[in-house]
Amino acid sequence: MKKQAYLLISLILISLFLLTACSPAKPFAAEDFAMGTVINQEIYGADAQKTSQEVMAKIKALEALMTINAPGGDVNRLNDRAGNGYVALNPETISVLKSARKISELSNGAFDVTVGPVVKAWGIGSDNPQIPPDAVLKKLVALINYTDVHLDEANNQASLQRPGQIVDLGGIAKGYAGDVAKAIYQKNGTQSALINLGGNVVALGHKPDGSTWSIGIQNPRSETGEVVGVVHVSDQAVVTSGDYQRYFEKDGKRYCHIIDTQTGYPVESGLMSTTIVASSSTEADGLSTATFVLGLTKGLDLIKRYGQAEAIFITTDKKIYVTKGLQGNFQLKDARHEYTYVQEG
Ligand code: AMP
Ligand code: MG
Repeated sequence: MKKQAYLLISLILISLFLLTACSPAKPFAAEDFAMGTVINQEIYGADAQKTSQEVMAKIKALEALMTINAPGGDVNRLNDRAGNGYVALNPETISVLKSARKISELSNGAFDVTVGPVVKAWGIGSDNPQIPPDAVLKKLVALINYTDVHLDEANNQASLQRPGQIVDLGGIAKGYAGDVAKAIYQKNGTQSALINLGGNVVALGHKPDGSTWSIGIQNPRSETGEVVGVVHVSDQAVVTSGDYQRYFEKDGKRYCHIIDTQTGYPVESGLMSTTIVASSSTEADGLSTATFVLGLTKGLDLIKRYGQAEAIFITTDKKIYVTKGLQGNFQLKDARHEYTYVQEG
């Protein structure tokens, strides 16, 4: 009897050991820098390290294609030939330009990748940000028009209609990189992973224990990156645009990196941040920028018309609006009770 009891206890201990050893309790974590931001990955399961390296190599290749400053890259060559006909581009660049056009059409041009000349003139996020003279901005705003980006998908080429026009994919390329990362995870058989490209989060599946991923929504005025809420998701992208991500201050006024395409000035729409939850990370990225430009009312209307996204908008008067489909998955974490939670109908 005693021997049997020992055997039983040993069996239980061995099974417990095997369970903990085999269960992917801890993800493989990787951190790197690309596309102007820190990139974090959490990957569960086999071959996680190899997969994370494959993802980073791909993101760096996308950066070389799509960053405005990469000499010889697609966007660079497209801009150099503005007003001079078509340029052969990688199909992936064409696909991002196509997604950008969709969001431009939906947002009536609030999102517009031809905002490049104005972005350049302000230099927000560069070493020399400045306030351009009014007259200069007026001229540059006249160069913004997404319908001047001509796409020839059949031949993988594109053109910019007028000399001086500049495409800037800064508002959508990280989102695309998130979708591509997810596709690599899936190709490699990964079932649970999370990638965060500086506020551009993509969650693949659930966590291995079946629970959802908790994504923090940053307090836009916290110096230390505190969160004001947490959203629980699986298999979704969670993408945030905010006036705290890149900005400069002059005479006590904040100038953020998102441009109002109507005026050429940094957006002052009454919002501090917009977070979009959707299955397409590319479109969520475009939508986060677009809704930030549009402000609360028009932004909420855009989300309704898009139909496949939920949103969290934080206003300058410290209200947090959460759309209906997300309310069950949102938790307020506002420790100092600064914010008011508004359940959007
Ligand atoms: P995001 O952080 O995704 O909202 O994107 C902001 C970046 O997109 C800026 O740093 C610019 O490179 C670019 N951008 C700024 N304003 C706009 C706009 N109205 N439409 C499209 N892209 C923009
Ligand atoms: Mg964006």
